[in-house]
Amino acid sequence: MEVSLKNQVAIITGASSGIGTGIAKSIAEAGATVIINHSSEKSLENAQEVLKEITDAGGNGITYQCDVSKEDEVIKMFKDVIEKFGTVDILINNAGIQKDAKFTEMTLDDWNAVMNVNLTGHFLCSREAIKEFLRRGIDTSRSVACGKIIHISSVHEVIPWAGHANYAASKGAIKMLMQTLAQEYGPDKIRVNSIGPGAIQTPINKAAWETKDALNSLLELIPYNRIGQPKDIGNLAAFLASDLADYISGASIFVDGGMTSLESFADNG
Ligand code: NAD
Repeated sequence: MEVSLKNQVAIITGASSGIGTGIAKSIAEAGATVIINHSSEKSLENAQEVLKEITDAGGNGITYQCDVSKEDEVIKMFKDVIEKFGTVDILINNAGIQKDAKFTEMTLDDWNAVMNVNLTGHFLCSREAIKEFLRRGIDTSRSVACGKIIHISSVHEVIPWAGHANYAASKGAIKMLMQTLAQEYGPDKIRVNSIGPGAIQTPINKAAWETKDALNSLLELIPYNRIGQPKDIGNLAAFLASDLADYISGASIFVDGGMTSLESFADNG
């Protein structure tokens, strides 16, 4: 049994760091051409390093700058990628940010910034991807499905998170966006799923793992007793995008070392 994404083209948003990088590497290892999306000039160097690691390992890809919260930029990214590679088979909506604040101190700017990237970005990219999937139709030399979308959500799609109302609200909303798209486009053979990471060691949550004390208190929330790595998410993303997962659609799969299984009740609460 082989997880193969040969002959396919995948856009991975926010792939110049963290989980997005892990996903880009796994998807490239499975044989797809990867579009390593990054948001600004500042992240170009990181994106180029990711591309170099992928091509050094025998994979294919390009970097592409696009702010996923901007409609014109997203439309242009899909247009350019389709012109260059013929089509897009896989979209991984990974880009996401946090702007944490106590709720009564949360500004409208904090709220909008998170919604614009974490939710509107997923909407814009998914819309352009689905248009392209439908235009191309099914091509069984690529995949038995017409197209695949994977949203990177969070355990906070089900676990409330005090001090992070904007982030938790955006991740809860992704669940309904994902399930609605799976329902609306299932008959067209487009599969849509979410991966909900637990604590993965990336720049977004550095404060939670950079000191021994912080890491120890984080590990109390993780029954499997280790912090996750970007590859843990990449492995599932490659499988979910492949035809081995052809009967999986509309699902949120948590990759969290058991975090959502409520470790705090292990000793009877
Ligand atoms: P990260 O900060 O390393 O990565 C986020 C990426 O998104 C960065 O590459 C950033 O440049 C990119 N990005 C931000 N705004 C963008 C925009 N407007 N357009 C395009 N790209 C943009 O953090 P990460 O941990 O790798 O996060 C990736 C995803 O995983 C996020 O959606 C995050 O919410 C989710 N997540 C992470 C964890 C974790 O523990 N690290 C847990 C649950 C969910």
